[in-house]
Amino acid sequence: QGTIIIQVRIAPVGEEYILILADDRTEITRTEAIRNDFVANVSHELKTPVGAISLLAEALEASPDDEEAVRRFAQRMHKESARLAALVQDIIELSRLQGANIVQQGKAVDLGAVIAEAVDRSKLQAESKNIELVLGGSVSEPVYGDADLLVTAFRNLIDNAVRYSPSNTKVGIGLRSGGGLATVSISDQGDGISAEEQERIFERFYRVDAARSRQTGGTGLGLSIVKHVISNHGGEVTVWSQPGSGSTFTVRLPEMEKGQSDPAGNTENH
Ligand code: ADP
Repeated sequence: QGTIIIQVRIAPVGEEYILILADDRTEITRTEAIRNDFVANVSHELKTPVGAISLLAEALEASPDDEEAVRRFAQRMHKESARLAALVQDIIELSRLQGANIVQQGKAVDLGAVIAEAVDRSKLQAESKNIELVLGGSVSEPVYGDADLLVTAFRNLIDNAVRYSPSNTKVGIGLRSGGGLATVSISDQGDGISAEEQERIFERFYRVDAARSRQTGGTGLGLSIVKHVISNHGGEVTVWSQPGSGSTFTVRLPEMEKGQSDPAGNTENH
C-alpha cells in the first residue's frame, strides 16, 4: 500500500509531529473488484434458474397433451423457482447485513433459545435423511444482538451439516460458557473439507462441489451470511475438518456480563 510519511515541526511549540497520509486507492480498487465480482456472480446465479424456467415453459407450451411430460416439466419448474427464491432471499439477507449495525439495534438474547429454534427449523430436513440432531450443554449468560439474525446463522450451519452428511448419521450441537464467551459447536459425520477448501468456503458463492450444493438446495451464500452475522455480533466462526472424519464449525460470541443491563433495556426471549 502507498503510505506517505511526512515529518512536520510546529515551530512555536517546538515539538515534532509525524503526519501519515495513507493512500487508500489500493483499498478502494480492491473493494470495487470484490463488488464487481459479486455482481457478476449474482447475475450468473440468477440467470441459470431464470433460463431454465423459461426453457421449461417453452417445452410445456410445445407439448400440452403429453401428460407425463407436462408433469415432469412442471416439477422441474417448481424446483428451479424454489432455487430462485432461496437465492433472492440470501442475496437480500447478505446486502442487508453488510449495512447493518447490530450493536445499536440489539437486545439481550438467550442463546439457548436461539439454538433450540434453529434446531427446530432444521428438523424436517434432518428427518428426511434420518439424521439425528443431538443437542447438549448450555450457556450461562445472554449475548447482545439480534435473535432473528442469530437463528438464521445457526440454522445455516445446521442445515449445512445435514446437507453434507450421509443419511443415518448424527449432527451434534454443543453449547458452553467460559472466559466470557459463549461457544457453540456444530459437528457432523460428513465427508469433511480439505485444508485448502476450508480457507475459501466463507467466500460468497464458493462451493466445493457446485452441482452437489445446487442439487441439495444450497445457494453458495450460507457461510458468508454466517460470517457476517457472527462478526456483526463481535464474535468469530472457525472450522475444523478432516476429509473422512466430518467437520466441526465453532462459533464464539462475547457474553454479556453478569447482571449487565443491555443498553436498550429489553430482553428478548426468542
Ligand atoms: P452452500 O449453499 O453451497 O451450502 P455455503 O456458503 O453454506 O454454501 O457453504 C459453502 C461450501 O462449503 C458448500 O458448498 C460445501 O462445499 C462446503 N461446506 C459447508 N458446510 C459443510 C459441511 N458441514 N461439510 C462439508 N462441506 C461443507
